[in-house]
Amino acid sequence: MTFMTDRRHPSPHVVTWELTRACALHCRHCRAEALRHRDPRELSLDAIQQVLEDLRRFAHRPIMVFTGGDPLERPDLPAIQRAAVDRGFHTAMAPSVTPRLTPEAIREWAERGIGSVSLSLDGASAAVHDAFRGQPGTFDATLLAALAIREAGMKLQINSSVGPHTAGELEAMGNLVKRLGVSSWEVFFVIPTGRARRSEQLSAKSIEDALCWLAAYRSRAPFRVTTVGAPQFRRVLHEMGYSVPEGPTVREAQGFMFISHTGEVFPSGYLPVSAGTVPASSAVELYQESPLFQALRNSDRLAGRCGTCAYARTCGGSRARAYAVAGDWAAEDPGCSSAVGA
Ligand code: SF4
Repeated sequence: MTFMTDRRHPSPHVVTWELTRACALHCRHCRAEALRHRDPRELSLDAIQQVLEDLRRFAHRPIMVFTGGDPLERPDLPAIQRAAVDRGFHTAMAPSVTPRLTPEAIREWAERGIGSVSLSLDGASAAVHDAFRGQPGTFDATLLAALAIREAGMKLQINSSVGPHTAGELEAMGNLVKRLGVSSWEVFFVIPTGRARRSEQLSAKSIEDALCWLAAYRSRAPFRVTTVGAPQFRRVLHEMGYSVPEGPTVREAQGFMFISHTGEVFPSGYLPVSAGTVPASSAVELYQESPLFQALRNSDRLAGRCGTCAYARTCGGSRARAYAVAGDWAAEDPGCSSAVGA
C-alpha cells in the first residue's frame, strides 16, 4: 500500500475509527477488549460530524474505516455513514459478524454509498475460526455475509489473524479467500495488546516463514495482499526478488491514524498512546504536528536493529509490537528476524 508523502503537510491514507467498544462477540485476541454494553463516553453524532468536517482539510482525503467493537451496536450508524459519504470520504465498514449483520443491513450500506466491507476470518474451518471468535456459528455466518457483500456490489476485504493457532492454516485460508472473490486480504500478525496475550503471537522465525509464504502467494494473487503488524514484509519481498510497493509502508502515524470511541487519537489501534482528543483538538493538527506523530515518522528515532537497518525508512518495524513487548515504541521490533540491522 502506498500513499502520498508530503513531509510538511502529510495526510493519512486510512483513518480507522472505533465508533464503539460494544460487541456481542468475545474474541480471544480483541484489541478493543470489547464490552457487551456501550460506553456512555462514546463520541456523539454531533461530535463525529465535527471531526469529519475537520478531516476534510487533509490535502488527500483519507479512506474512512468505521470499526468497533461492532459499529452496528450504534443506532445512529446510518447517520454517521451518511455524514462520511456526503463529505466525500471513501467509506468502509469493519463490522462484527453477529445477528445484526443481516443481508438487509448490508444492502442498506451499499445504497448509502459504502464502498467496501471487511470481515474477519481467522481459520479455514468452523472449528478453528469459531473457537477463536468465541461464538459457534460465526464461521458459517461470515461466509454468508461475504456473499451478501459481493451481491450488494461492494468490495470485500478479508482480515485474518495469524498466531500459533492459525499459522498452520495459512495455505487453506489463502485458498478460501480466493474462492470468496475478495478485493484484498489483510493478514494481521497478532500483537500482544488488548485481550491478546504474548502466547498468541508468533516467534520472529515463524513470522518470517509466514511472510515468505505470503510473498509467493501475493505474486500470484489477483487481489491486494497486505500485512498489519509486519512491515518487514517489504524487506522479505525485496530479498525474495518480488516487486515491492513504492514508498514507505503504511504503519503507525505513517499514513494511518486511529480514533478511539472516546475521541482519543492514537497512531494505531494497537499502539494506545494518545496524541490528544477530538473534537477538542483538531485531528488534522494532531496527525501533522503532534510531537508523538512526528517522532513516529522519524526513522532516526528508531533503536536497536531497526535503528541501524537498511530498511528503516521503508519498513521501520512494528512500533506497536515494540511498545507491547518492550514498553518503548522506538525499540527494535522483536517480531523481525532480519540480520540486516544487527
Ligand atoms: S530490523 Fe526493523 S526496520 Fe529492519 S526489516 Fe526488521 S523490522 Fe524492518
